[in-house]
Amino acid sequence: MTVVTDRASLATARAALTGTVALVPTMGALHEGHLSLVRSAKAAGADHVIVSIFVNPLQFAPGEDFETYPRDLDADVTALRSEGVSLVFAPTREVMYPHRVRVTVSPGPVAGILEGASRPGFFDGVLTVVTKLFHLTTPDIAVFGEKDYQQLTLIRQLVTDLDFGIDIVGAPTVRDADGLAKSSRNAYLSTPQRELALTLSRALHAGAADTVDPLGAASTVISDAGDAVELDYLELTSPDLGEPVAGDQARLLVAATVGSTRLIDNIAVTLSPEFTAHSSPRVHS
Ligand code: AMP
Repeated sequence: MTVVTDRASLATARAALTGTVALVPTMGALHEGHLSLVRSAKAAGADHVIVSIFVNPLQFAPGEDFETYPRDLDADVTALRSEGVSLVFAPTREVMYPHRVRVTVSPGPVAGILEGASRPGFFDGVLTVVTKLFHLTTPDIAVFGEKDYQQLTLIRQLVTDLDFGIDIVGAPTVRDADGLAKSSRNAYLSTPQRELALTLSRALHAGAADTVDPLGAASTVISDAGDAVELDYLELTSPDLGEPVAGDQARLLVAATVGSTRLIDNIAVTLSPEFTAHSSPRVHS
C-alpha cells in the first residue's frame, strides 16, 4: 500500500494502478463503516481501491467542528493496509486548495432541504471536493455510504448531470450492536450522551416497523427522549429526495443534536397501501 500526500506522487502512484479502480473518499478517523466501503468497492469489481483522507474545510461552516474533528492518520493507514487498499491519498489543505477558492459546484434543489437547510453551503463544499478528488484519482467506481443519504443522492446527481462517467455505489449503514450508526463524531459522546444518541436509530426502526404511520411512530420515540435530544428534522421523503412520497418506497431521515454533537441517520421504509401522507410529511423541532 502506498501513502501519498502530494499531487505529483498521487499521479505517479495512480498511473501504476491497472484494471478497475475504485475511490472511497473519507475524512479519516476511520471505523468499520468506512472499512465496509472498501469491501463494497471490491465486491463491485475493483481491482484496486484508493482511499482519500481529507477533512475538507469547504464543508464546515464557522462554529462547526473543523478544528476539533478527530484525526488519526497512523491508525487509519494501519486499518486500510489490513483491508488490502492499494493507495491512500492524504493531502494537506494547501495541496487540495493551493489557490483561493473561486469556482465551486452548485448542487441544485436537493441541497436546499434536510442537511442543506440546516447547513447552508455544506453540499457545495462536498460536491466541490468530491469533484476535485474524482479528477485527481480518475476512478471507474466511487463508493459512498447510505449513512449520508442526501450526500449519496447528490453525488449520483453530480455524476449523472455533469457526465463524470463514474459508477457510484451506495453501501449500507454499519451500526454498533445496539443500533447506533457508526460515525467519527460518536467519539465526542459521553456514555450518557451515547445512550441518548440511540434515540435516533430507535426512532428510525420504530418508523420502519410502522408501515401506516412511520413518521408518527418515529416522532413518538423522539418526543419520549425529552429535551436532551434536540431534534433538527425528522422527514419522510421519496427515495430520491426530490418528490413527495408516492408508491410504497420511502426514506425516513433524522438529524438531532445531543450535547453539542450533531448526529444524522436514515432508513428505508416500505409503506402499506393504508399509508396516507397525513397532514404533514415532516416534523421539525
Ligand atoms: P466521512 O469520513 O464521515 O466523510 O465518511 C466517508 C464515507 O463513509 C461516506 O461515504 C460516508 O457515508 C461513509 N460512512 C460513514 N459512516 C458510515 C457508516 N456507519 N456505515 C457506512 N458508511 C459510512
